[in-house]
Amino acid sequence: MASPAVARPWAAFSANAAFGLRSAARSSRGFATTTSTTQRAQLQQTVKRNTPARIPRDSVQQGFKRNYSSETPKVVKKKSFRFLRWTWRLTYLSAIGGFAWMCWGIYQNRTPEDQAEPDPNKKTLVVLGTGWGSVSLLKKLDTENYNVIVISPRNYFLFTPLLPSCTTGTVEHRSIMEPIRNFLRHKKAAVKYYEADATKIDYEKKVVYINDDSEIKGATSATEVPFDMLVVGVGAENATFGIPGVKEHGCFLKEVNDAQKIRKRIMDCVETATFKDQTPEEVRRLLHMVVVGGGPTGVEFAGELQDFFENDLRKWIPEITNNFHVTLVEALPSVLPMFSKQLIDYTEQTFKEETIDIRTKTMVKNVTETYIEAEHTDAQGNKVMERIPYGLLVWATGNAVRPVVKDLMNQIPAQKDSRRGLAVNEYLVVKGTDNVWAVGDCAVANYAPTAQVASQEGSFLARLFNQMAKTESIEQELAILSEEQASAQKDARDEALAKIKELQKRLRRTKTMGPFEYSHQGSLAYIGSEKAVADISWLTGNLATGGQLTYFFWRSAYLSMCFSTRNRILVCMDWLKTQIFGRDVSRE
Ligand code: FAD
Ligand code: NAD
Repeated sequence: MASPAVARPWAAFSANAAFGLRSAARSSRGFATTTSTTQRAQLQQTVKRNTPARIPRDSVQQGFKRNYSSETPKVVKKKSFRFLRWTWRLTYLSAIGGFAWMCWGIYQNRTPEDQAEPDPNKKTLVVLGTGWGSVSLLKKLDTENYNVIVISPRNYFLFTPLLPSCTTGTVEHRSIMEPIRNFLRHKKAAVKYYEADATKIDYEKKVVYINDDSEIKGATSATEVPFDMLVVGVGAENATFGIPGVKEHGCFLKEVNDAQKIRKRIMDCVETATFKDQTPEEVRRLLHMVVVGGGPTGVEFAGELQDFFENDLRKWIPEITNNFHVTLVEALPSVLPMFSKQLIDYTEQTFKEETIDIRTKTMVKNVTETYIEAEHTDAQGNKVMERIPYGLLVWATGNAVRPVVKDLMNQIPAQKDSRRGLAVNEYLVVKGTDNVWAVGDCAVANYAPTAQVASQEGSFLARLFNQMAKTESIEQELAILSEEQASAQKDARDEALAKIKELQKRLRRTKTMGPFEYSHQGSLAYIGSEKAVADISWLTGNLATGGQLTYFFWRSAYLSMCFSTRNRILVCMDWLKTQIFGRDVSRE
């Protein structure tokens, strides 16, 4: 017997679904159903036979409309439904597209293609360093034009803006390192890399002397690398101003091993402070973390350290709560001198709330194993010497010139007045030379020693070298054509002349490359408690902002600036890990 439900399969389906829900609800409330298993099976069979394999979407919509259309106007409902459907479709299509693009990027990165061998007839370009300046040069350089040799003791690029986060484990150090080999292997023509320090540059002989300072040396005693063109991008070393005891007792914050050393020392101080029978005075000293230098490195580190204490240390080691203390010592009247006044005030106010002690107008003069001696200038202008005991001392007082750079400066008379590094002209050529260029912190070009400047200088040099190679090849072509044209028949001569004109036009274009111009995008710094400050170049003016929104901007800006997709993913995962599990308080 055909039931009414069989005549209208959709209704039967609804009825059955409703029945299923009702019975499920009943059984979940502990009721027994009245329909027997056989009856149910029969009903399901009938519905199956009469229900189309796929119910047309329109009929489903109509089914819904029949129920609810009396309350909402039909057209509005249809439009909003369509809008939602398309929004959803676009969202998941973009998510799939983004994911596919990322996978393709990763695949390409993992499968480098064969590279052309360097041509020995081409000029040898030696690049010193694998930091911001040198790497951005290598990124954009067409390596088919030169025999490129890279020399650096560090076989990776380090994303320094997130280095302060590594000192407390917010970000793991490997997440901000990119192996130089991975990246060089993707260049069109192979690039040689030697893991060594450049110990001396002989400008007259055009030779760089190198020394492999690593533990394993091998059987070679090669120390000379000749060059036709040289780019010096060795950065700077930590300034100590000759203050006694800094090198022996302080920790710097420039390289990965500095961050690792600080991370270990923090935990060593904390564990030692909680050691059996420690005197209260010693506990206070061990838990006093002193940062010298109120530039962005010192401020960011102080903020990270206070975060570590607030979010993790005091939770797991509550006995240190009353004695753990961070102090920032700065010789000038304020911290972050390169930021605008309102951001300086905001930073100082935030530090006060975070209970970080700021000691401005205090210049450190001497460092011992357990205390620093500093000269403080009070409000009346009197100078007072004081002793500040510490457990951890982080020294962040800026840059000094590396010995290899100093030595090169001494060889070139035009550099005799330069103090802070290699003086360069507007094309980044080292003054007094014609085949040596300098980028980044070791070059003096009237810009601040920042990653932003170094990377723009590197990109500029890459464009310059690519242009120079193009110019040279056009000039060679022109010379050959001119010779051919002189001895050619009339028709061939006309053709050659037309080609020469075209090449001359191209030559004029390639020769008109303007000088280096720095474009300042702004300055950003993290100040702790999920707050950041930013001085951003905005249209024709400057936008000064600070707080939590700026912190999200800081994070997204630095994430987008990371070297590779791999770095971006790893950094994101580290941030997520810290958010979920907190920072690791074990000492490796
Ligand atoms: P580096 O990046 O220091 O690279 C120098 C390279 O030369 C390294 O590979 C080194 O191993 C190599 N080298 C050293 N000696 C030799 C030698 N004798 N022979 C051969 N190679 C050698 N700037 C910003 O703009 N924004 C920021 O947020 C920011 N944050 C920072 C955070 C920290 C903790 C620090 C320390 C710096 C930060 N900076 C920032 C500054 C920025 O890192 C530097 O200005 C930038 O690294 C300079 O680039 P560079 O290429 O000149 O030198
Ligand atoms: P810095 O030169 O910016 O600041 C060093 C500070 O140490 C100065 O304010 C100086 O007055 C102080 N100082 C020097 N000797 C002292 C002493 N004996 N006692 C007390 N204070 C003393 O150094 P930095 O913070 O290491 O930065 C180096 C470069 O890297 C800068 O150009 C900076 O802009 C850049 N950087 C930028 C960022 C960022 O943009 N977020 C972060 C880190 C570094």
